[in-house]
Amino acid sequence: MSSNDNKNINNSTDRRGFLKMASAISLGSLGLGYCSTKENDLEQKPMTKQPATGSEEPGASRIISYRRLGRTGLRVSDISFGAGGLTNYRVALRAIQLGINYFDTAPDYVGGRSEKVLGQAIKASGVPRSRLVIATKFCYETGYPGHMYNESKETYMKAVNDCLKRLQTNYIDFVFVHALGEKDSGSPETYRLKDQNMLAAFRELKSQGKVRHLAVSCHNYTAAMKGGIDYAINSGNFDLIMLAYNFRGGSPDKQTLESVVNMSKKAYRKGVAFVAMKTLNGARGLDSEELKGKGTFAQAAFKWVLSNPAVGCLVVTMRNMSQIEEYVKASGQKFTYNDYQLLKQASLESKECQIGCTDCEKNCPKGVKIADILRYNIYFNYYDQEKYAMQKYSFLPASMRANNCDGCESPCQSSCAYGVNIKEQLAEAHANLSFA
Ligand code: SF4
Ligand code: SF4
Repeated sequence: MSSNDNKNINNSTDRRGFLKMASAISLGSLGLGYCSTKENDLEQKPMTKQPATGSEEPGASRIISYRRLGRTGLRVSDISFGAGGLTNYRVALRAIQLGINYFDTAPDYVGGRSEKVLGQAIKASGVPRSRLVIATKFCYETGYPGHMYNESKETYMKAVNDCLKRLQTNYIDFVFVHALGEKDSGSPETYRLKDQNMLAAFRELKSQGKVRHLAVSCHNYTAAMKGGIDYAINSGNFDLIMLAYNFRGGSPDKQTLESVVNMSKKAYRKGVAFVAMKTLNGARGLDSEELKGKGTFAQAAFKWVLSNPAVGCLVVTMRNMSQIEEYVKASGQKFTYNDYQLLKQASLESKECQIGCTDCEKNCPKGVKIADILRYNIYFNYYDQEKYAMQKYSFLPASMRANNCDGCESPCQSSCAYGVNIKEQLAEAHANLSFA
């Protein structure tokens, strides 16, 4: 969504705005024609058989909608589990018990611990492996980002074999070329996707029954990355793409909502599954207390994402039991006018810097990297990536760091249309991110 789109949300007070927003992602307006062949029948229907957990509690909220992941034919919970900060197996176990069956992890999440803990939870659940879908990445077992790049076939294969051990499983459903555009800057965006060693490793692992599908994710779906994702969709090698997609615009770096929706439509037509991540942009960190007794910001944001029929599922980081309980309530629910109002309120209340915006930087006489610093602070506060965020901050030239704001009268402030208290947030970021 562009900044104009955000302003539309902020300014609209009537149902017309809601209808416009809702219809923008409707099947008809996307021109998504269903194909009649079985392979391409992507219509979202509930699973006939839901994952048996053996511990359903009468009346407990649980997943009620399972969607098809494109041509893979796999059906997964519409609300799925992001294991980015997973350190307690009981959290993942609870997710399984409530019917979540798609788990997104990686070797570089908590230095390999996320995979180990997920494997522990799966074992403890007693749910057959075949009822669960596990996605992990071609990564090193280091702190984020450990994305593999330019390696030998043997090294890629070893990485996946190590994942299998940590996860205590004998196969992985999806292995990702992760975070396209990161750690490969300067290379063509398709470079990592065309890596012959990676592709050969995948083929061999697949022939051994150790992996099933190749996937690609992109956190910064910029204009520069569009070609890479287009290539992934058209190449036939990738069965799933995962991009940022949310009610505030979806994707960083001034990408419009329209371009992400168009990408989801393309993927849908090709039978390539589209998984949405970063679905809480703008609602993150806001009070999740039930508002008006009709749901929370997070639930409204999820329902908005899932109202796009091209979305296979959304992945959201779940940190504790109460978050899981809150999130699963959005499963299978329609996006309503009340949800629209909640999102509008979130847009108004959120004082979070908008990823992709750099509008205020032109008014900073000192050249402070405002947008980058506030983004690193989001990593620090919300993604359990303290070390990574601090490291990124330390790489900024001293002249561009937030301590340069001391004594400044904040001419940057007047150019922020989102109400971010720039100087105050930069001061907080500096305190969080400085090693001193
Ligand atoms: S407060 Fe900081 S970021 Fe804003 S104009 Fe002054 S030096 Fe630049
Ligand atoms: S502080 Fe405001 S103007 Fe500056 S980058 Fe963030 S959202 Fe944009």
